[in-house]
This record gives sequence, C-alpha cells and structure tokens, in this order.
Amino acid sequence: MHIYVHVPFCQRRCSYCDFSIAVRKRIPAQEYVDAIIGELARVGSPAATPRGNDTIYFGGGTPSLLPPAAIATILEKVLPRTTHDVPRTGVEVTLEANPEDVTPDHAVAWRAAGINRVSLGAQSFDDTVLKWMHRSHDAAQTTRAVQALRDAGIENISLDLIFGLPEELKRNWERDLDMAHALRTTHLSVYGLTVEPRTPLDRWISRGATHAPDEERYAEEYLFAHRRLTADGFVFYEVSNAARDGLRSQHNSAYWSGKAYVGLGPAAHSFDGTTRRWNLRAWEAYRRAVAEGRSAVESEERLTEEQRALEQAYLGLRTIEGLPVTAFARLRPPLTAQGWLEVVDGRVKCTPEGWLRLDSIVNEISHDRAAY
Ligand code: SF4
Repeated sequence: MHIYVHVPFCQRRCSYCDFSIAVRKRIPAQEYVDAIIGELARVGSPAATPRGNDTIYFGGGTPSLLPPAAIATILEKVLPRTTHDVPRTGVEVTLEANPEDVTPDHAVAWRAAGINRVSLGAQSFDDTVLKWMHRSHDAAQTTRAVQALRDAGIENISLDLIFGLPEELKRNWERDLDMAHALRTTHLSVYGLTVEPRTPLDRWISRGATHAPDEERYAEEYLFAHRRLTADGFVFYEVSNAARDGLRSQHNSAYWSGKAYVGLGPAAHSFDGTTRRWNLRAWEAYRRAVAEGRSAVESEERLTEEQRALEQAYLGLRTIEGLPVTAFARLRPPLTAQGWLEVVDGRVKCTPEGWLRLDSIVNEISHDRAAY
C-alpha cells in the first residue's frame, strides 16, 4: 500500500510555484484532520501493514506547517503503532518540510508519530537566491534543520535543490552542491527551474525584471550535478533523484514502477493499476465535499492499454532501470546515435544527456506505437 496525503497550506507563494496550494497565515489544522479522516472513512481506510514495502508520504504545500499532533492523528489511522519503526517493518513514512519549521521539538514529535524520512525544501544555500525565490528560510536554518532531525533519530533526510536559475542571480551551483554534500544527507533531488504561467516569476519575466532561465546553463548545471554527485557516492536512480547507500525514495519509486496508490487531500491523485482519480483541487471545495458526505473525487480516467504501455515506457525511461530491450520493438537508431539512450545488460536506459531530453524522447516514441 502506498498512501499520499496532500497538505495544501503554505504561508506564502514561492516565486516559481504553480502548485495547488492554499496560502494561509493560520493553518486550519483541525478542519484539515477532520476532512482527511472523513475522506478515509469514505474510501475505506487503507492501512499500511508491515509487509516491507509500504509507504506513506505527506506532500504539499507545506506539510510541516501542520502541528505535529495533527500529523500523529492522521498516522494513527493509517499506520498501526507497531509499524512505526522502519528498520523493523519497512514502512517508509516521509514528511516534506520547510527548514524553518524543523525545530528540535517538532523533530522529536514527528519521530514519535512515526515519521522516519524527511524531505527538506532547501533549494539553495545562497540567502540572496532564497529571498528571490520567496522562501521563508535562510541557509543556516537548513543546516540546523538537518542537525535537529538527526538528533531526533531521523537519519533518512533528503534535500531539494533547484538549478538553472537566471544568470543575473549569479548563483554558484557548485558551491550549493558542496554545501549539500557537507551535510551528508542520504538523498538529493535536483529540479530545473521552469517558468509556469501566472507565477510571480512569469510576471517578472513579462515585464523585463528578470530573464528566463538559459537552456545552455540549465543543461550544464544538470550534467555537472550528475558528475559531482556520482563522484560523491550518490547514484542517480531517476532523472531528478540521487541516493546514497541505496536509500532511494520507496514512495516515489512505487509511482515510477506503476504501482497502485491512494491519494488523500485536495488535488491528490489515486491509481489502482488501470484507473486514475483525482480530488477537487481547491481546499475549500474539497473540505465542503467531504463535510457534506459527497465524494471528493473531481474526475477520473481509465487508461487504455496503449496509454498504459506509453506511460510504462515513460516511467521506465525516467529511472536507472530503464526498459527491457524487447519493449522497444523498433528502437529508433537516431536516439542511440545521439547518445541519449544506451543499451546495458539487455535494457534500454537514458544517459544523463538523454534524461535532459526525456520529453523529446517520449514524444518521439509516442508517435510510433511499435517502439514501445
Ligand atoms: S513551499 Fe512549496 S508548495 Fe509552497 S509555495 Fe513554495 S514551492 Fe509552492
């Protein structure tokens, strides 16, 4: 069982973010917990069991804005007390957190509630860049957050970093990777900055206050991260994710291998192997639906066999596992000739250059049914 809990609240909108969030000064924690429990009652409470491959993931938004007691109440419903210790049971319980929310007390309370993995939205170790991003933390808070988590017994820590920023910020990507490396976390996620419509960044670019990220710089920084992190002992096991000591995100790996999952909360998606459902996006609409005893599902789509095959090809190529060569009945020679794909031990895999062009590769094979 893989359970995703979407927590939509943020205290402000980051300059590049177009996620479905609810900006709130005061977090309506009790209403949120009631809504999640109400949705659980409706969908039939999925409970993680100690089978060794279960995961629960609090994503957002900013889940760390919820009081620890609210997180504990939700976990009580989906995570039996006896399964709280991941080494014993294999249940990975992740909380996305912003560094400024990670106090020693919160870290201890999260651990007691069952959280055993934290994904920290570090983004950069340059305070000027963090201000430009509208982040509410500074670099020193990220360092303190990692320490507080370790002191509380949470060793499995991931950092998010964003690359490909506009030239004029003079961001030193190598320095940021060095700072992240110095913290010795188990996992790093690196995301390229994209300009989404109607974000503050989009507006700044439209009025000439900043420049759109440069494609060449984007590619250079992505490839540099590959070289640097690989040399530092990380394995890039997915286009944006690198892990040390085999500590991959089991939850996200379940998505990438096409496993079924249950999503709770506004905008959360669920998948049962053939049908994908998604909840109402807006917090208020979601809360009202659950409170009135209606389904929170906004819509659903049943994937055709062809869609599933293409999705499988896309997900497989995102990961280091790639796809069996036999899945490509007619692998197009130009793809391998360009150095974007390689065949290793009977499997077709993206090279780092290929991962940079994953969308083009998938677009190409989507027009050729025989290729996947
Ligand atoms: S904290 Fe995350 S979800 Fe919230 S606004 Fe920033 S990027 Fe978006």
